[in-house]
Amino acid sequence: MRSPEALRLRQTLRYAVLAAFLVVAGSPCLAQSQSEFASCLARLQPAAQRSGVRPDSYSRYTDGVQADFSILDKLNYQPEFKLPIWDYLSGLVDDERIADGKAGLARHAEVLQRIQAAYGVDPATVVAVWGVESNYGRITGKYPLVQALGTLSCFGRRQGYFQGEFFAALRILQRGDIAPDRLNGSWAGAFGHTQFMPATYERLAVDFDGDGRRDLVDNSDDALASTANFLRKGGWQNGLPWGVEVRLPNGFDSGLAGRTRKRALGDWAASGLTLADGRPLAASGLAASERVGLLMLAGPRGPAFLTTRNFDVIYGYNAAESYGLAIAHLSDRLRGGPPFAAPWPTDDPGLSRAERRELQTLLAARGHDIGEIDGMLGDRSRVAVSQEQSRLGQPVNGRGGQKLLQTLRAEGGAQRPAGR
Ligand code: CA
Repeated sequence: MRSPEALRLRQTLRYAVLAAFLVVAGSPCLAQSQSEFASCLARLQPAAQRSGVRPDSYSRYTDGVQADFSILDKLNYQPEFKLPIWDYLSGLVDDERIADGKAGLARHAEVLQRIQAAYGVDPATVVAVWGVESNYGRITGKYPLVQALGTLSCFGRRQGYFQGEFFAALRILQRGDIAPDRLNGSWAGAFGHTQFMPATYERLAVDFDGDGRRDLVDNSDDALASTANFLRKGGWQNGLPWGVEVRLPNGFDSGLAGRTRKRALGDWAASGLTLADGRPLAASGLAASERVGLLMLAGPRGPAFLTTRNFDVIYGYNAAESYGLAIAHLSDRLRGGPPFAAPWPTDDPGLSRAERRELQTLLAARGHDIGEIDGMLGDRSRVAVSQEQSRLGQPVNGRGGQKLLQTLRAEGGAQRPAGR
């Protein structure tokens, strides 16, 4: 499930240019396409009916819906600005998200205990997924799902896949689990506290508070239990750690690395790996026979981890190792664990969200139009970062890191207008 935060991180100038082109050049073609959209919706109705959407429901929820063509740009978007793993993690696992997660653990302690009893998934893991997916329910996406999934069902790549999700969304509305005006999510159709796709919702969402509705939008009990159910159905093993940070021996053959290239923990110990603090791997509490893979997301000079089947289950939530590591590490931090022992292989580490807001404030004070101070370093922030890097004689890459922040902080407030 693509979380809105993760998606927003990937937007670039190119998207803005495409959108501007559509506004300028697209009006006649848009009118044409809205009529194409209406024809397409009419054409899909029999298939929707075969999947269980009654004709009256189909009309009620799709009549008058307009296609949102901006979504197709997002579908076709090829990232040109790839976020380094240390930027990705420094935004997803920062002091704010750890503090908010600990508050969530305390506030929902009773229901999280019952969820653990019912599904065998511990509170910190469930809350870490919640924190990364939607910032604990704060960022769940603003796209009306019927419009978004209808658009993707009629235009662009993977229409067949999106039709399945579109019909599932209509069935959710038909059953009355979620009100139409509450069924909003990411442009790709993930919605609610846990960012489930509609078909995932149908398979795995649960009504944990017993009110008769599986409500992942407005009911955090249902959402947290549904996350636990997702992990349980994925094969989560109660009590098994996701993995441990390790230290590699000198001259280690990094060709052995790979999450899915599992060997017994004892074999890794025999190869010279230890825990990050130098103690033997056995001190992790994992059995010598436990099969684990070696995860290195920044090469052999960055942090390295041995990961268990439970890491693979977390990976299954979004099919990205960086994403899996964010949830796994956040869960450790929520349990009181330390930051990674090994530094990332960079002399310019990433920024927390608070530091991103501070950087944006410093950029705005220098006359840059960076839009809302939201802690998201988007297109306009990156343009401003490039201009400041150029002014300061730093490498110009549009990436906001510690070096630029500390330089601007040392300069103080507004230095001078940004040379425009
Ligand atoms: Ca419920």
